[in-house]
Amino acid sequence: MKTVNHWIGGKTVEGASGNWGPVTDPATGAVTTQVALASVDEVDAAVAAAKAAYETWGTSSLAKRTTILFKFRALLDAHRDEIAELITAEHGKVHSDALGEVARGLEIVDLACGITVQLKGELSTQVASRVDVAAIRQPLGVVAGITPFNFPAMVPMWMFPIAIACGNTFVLKPSEKDPSASLKIAELLAEAGLPDGVFNVLQGDKVAVDRLLEHPDVAAISFVGSTPIARYIHTTASANGKRVQALGGAKNHMLVLPDADLDAAADAAVSAAYGSAGERCMAISAVVAVGSIGDELVQKIKERAEKIKIGPGDDPTSEMGPLITKAHRDKVASYITGAAAQGSTVVLDGSAYTYEGAGFEDGHWIGISLLDHVPTTADAYKDEIFGPVLCVLRAETYEEGVALINASPFGNGTAIFTRDGGAARRFQMEIEAGMVGVNVPIPVPVGYHSFGGWKDSLFGDHHIYGNDGTHFYTRGKVVTTRWPDPSEAPAGVDLGFPRNH
Ligand code: NAD
Repeated sequence: MKTVNHWIGGKTVEGASGNWGPVTDPATGAVTTQVALASVDEVDAAVAAAKAAYETWGTSSLAKRTTILFKFRALLDAHRDEIAELITAEHGKVHSDALGEVARGLEIVDLACGITVQLKGELSTQVASRVDVAAIRQPLGVVAGITPFNFPAMVPMWMFPIAIACGNTFVLKPSEKDPSASLKIAELLAEAGLPDGVFNVLQGDKVAVDRLLEHPDVAAISFVGSTPIARYIHTTASANGKRVQALGGAKNHMLVLPDADLDAAADAAVSAAYGSAGERCMAISAVVAVGSIGDELVQKIKERAEKIKIGPGDDPTSEMGPLITKAHRDKVASYITGAAAQGSTVVLDGSAYTYEGAGFEDGHWIGISLLDHVPTTADAYKDEIFGPVLCVLRAETYEEGVALINASPFGNGTAIFTRDGGAARRFQMEIEAGMVGVNVPIPVPVGYHSFGGWKDSLFGDHHIYGNDGTHFYTRGKVVTTRWPDPSEAPAGVDLGFPRNH
């Protein structure tokens, strides 16, 4: 059986803890790989390698760093397909979706290639007589990233390109459910000329995470995953004096006003709810239909959703693949089987779906589900299901719809569908979420803007990538300089508080 090991100090390091985790092909249900689960000693070795590399990387020239990143970008571009295949084999998402995730990660590499502009600093001259003030930003040292299963290539790329471009060294702890893409990325970085130890991959579970959270040589933690773990990471890493950004889960709403183009809204709802089998933190999981459009909208969503072709991710005709694990599949199904008893109308029930095909009997299959008239008290509405389940709720008015959305503890993404510019503008101002779409169902910001939610969807002060990324991975320093004119006599002792004149 294939094994997936660590990447420490520029080379593969075999797992020595004796603990291994199973990696499953979600389409067949077969365990295809064993992934090493790091011990505390192995975490310490990865951090030590990163610390040693920081000695020279932290002071390396911007030209050196960006030259390597440009080479990495070209290699990543050339290996898109291979990385996408690794993702599909372990995550289950369809190949085109996996390619999309690589492309969105590549956007952040693009940004990091241009880090020279972001790190330019600021200078004010003559703030007082012959006094200049410069504001510069410097790297933190060793930083760590802990990432979720649902984007095994993109989410690490939200972090490390900017971190290393800023002069930090990086330890990545990917999800143990789909760990192979991160190793391929490590190999490409090495091929691009990245010095040993600047980027390390530590495979593991809670043991590895907990050691990173307390390790005295780790300066900052970037985390993306579920809300309970994000809250834990933020609390623990903060208590240990680390800078931390922890992005959590979501329940993303789409408000459809009565004047919206209902065909466009239905297309968007279906794409955003069922793409990647709903295993996206920006998936639309709740549609709020305003006024009397509800029945027509639900009908249009149903017609489209019924046509989605479910199948193995490596079959080019498949539009939606299986879920990540059997346990997750069963949990998602339980929301559907319990929905009617909690007051919802089950329009489409995908809980019993299985894909027909020899060898795929044990895959983690689930079909499309659509619930209507979902009460806000129902579990299917309150929880982040993270599966292909769309809840439709009704609101009499715009105000009622906004109040419903703002009452959610999550605040990741949200969208409004309307033809009314005034209503859309009001929504932008009133809605409590970090990312807002106007007739755009999944408003993931481009690489040069920052990604992040509000409320229980993000713990910490910084969103991820964009300008916030550069800020997170650097700390500010302000240098005040006076160069007296050689012809001047010394100013003499003055015990007064320095004044700017
Ligand atoms: P998860 O929280 O279970 O795991 C994320 C990471 O934390 C993994 O590396 C895992 O090994 C580690 N981990 C898990 N349990 C831990 C524990 N008890 N202690 C320490 N570390 C632990 O998340 P997941 O299931 O891999 O990913 C899905 C979740 O991620 C969803 O909730 C989704 O919304 C969220 N997500 C959020 C964003 C965002 O940008 N806000 C993006 C992608 C995914």
